[in-house]
Amino acid sequence: KSVIFSGIQPTGAFHLGNYFGAVRNWRDFQTRIRNDHIDSQLLFFVADLHSLTMPQDFKHLANQRAEAFASLMACGIDPDQAIIFFQSEVPEIPKLQWILSCICGMGQLNRMTQWKSKANLRSDADISEELGKVKLGLFTYPVLMAADILTFNATHVPVGGDQSQHMELTRDLAAIFNRATESDYLHAPKTLLTPTMKVLSLKNPEKKMSKSDPDEMSKIFITEDSKSIRKKINKALTDSIEGKLTYDPENRPAVSNLIAILAAAEGKPISEVAKMVEDFSKGELKEAVSQSVVRELSEPAERFGELMKDVETLDRISRRGSERAREIASRNLQEVSKLTGMGYW
Ligand code: ATP
Ligand code: MG
Repeated sequence: KSVIFSGIQPTGAFHLGNYFGAVRNWRDFQTRIRNDHIDSQLLFFVADLHSLTMPQDFKHLANQRAEAFASLMACGIDPDQAIIFFQSEVPEIPKLQWILSCICGMGQLNRMTQWKSKANLRSDADISEELGKVKLGLFTYPVLMAADILTFNATHVPVGGDQSQHMELTRDLAAIFNRATESDYLHAPKTLLTPTMKVLSLKNPEKKMSKSDPDEMSKIFITEDSKSIRKKINKALTDSIEGKLTYDPENRPAVSNLIAILAAAEGKPISEVAKMVEDFSKGELKEAVSQSVVRELSEPAERFGELMKDVETLDRISRRGSERAREIASRNLQEVSKLTGMGYW
């Protein structure tokens, strides 16, 4: 039986990258599984422990967690079909993280690029000169992510392109664990890359769109009203190349990003959309993107508003989800414990 598993941090409202790169696809899996009667377990979680890897305002975190949970449901994740839970409610995860930390090399973590970009370090920065400034949790984040996935022995993990490297590490750690315990208990999870690999910042196409980017104009939230969506897209960076619009991520990243967003919102291949807009002006392209994005987000925005009005129901649903997640996690961790010589004999 396949186990499809993924998470999102409560670091702020979901943006287009989260939606096209992750949550919309999760919803599509759910639809496919239901329609085709596939025997699959779906688990989606709010990665609150991960959110602590960057400075958080703890006063706001409770609310942000609720918003993240509501956003998942607003995007169409159904708690009757998927287990939706809070990471921090499953103590088996940090337990496995510890075990994995003890088999993971510092050098393996040093090769990861995300902590460097979050800590504003050069991507070729070296562990020895830079590590002193970096929080331990940010550096070991990929081990926690591996623990999330392996605690549930997930078979498939749908993530955006920014997570490919972490997925590789997860497979490595599973293999090292299996070798060390002479078992094949931990599955090597497959990465399911979403068709919209990476949505870029509207203001700086060298960066991905990111919740933790302080520039509000760089991202579009799924809960945003149409007026402000239009404003942000109108002010999005393009380029000064004249003539036909072309999809060329290498040389025209900003324009290509808008074309990719349009394609994602229209549910069409990029090549088709690129052909369709080639004679558009940049203004016309932006108008098309605005219209399409506003249409795509209208339902999630409305449902989010409704869900946040009833926090008690959210609380009840999230407790049930976390309990169901814990049942699976504790069964798996008992096995892991046995394999590592702990637990009862
Ligand atoms: P943060 O800046 O706090 O890390 P984030 O925007 O990167 O937030 P996450 O919660 O880390 O969001 O990631 C949730 C999911 O969204 C992951 O599957 C990730 O791959 C995906 N994702 C995040 N940003 C993008 C993006 N710009 N394009 C496509 N997918 C993305
Ligand atoms: Mg992220």
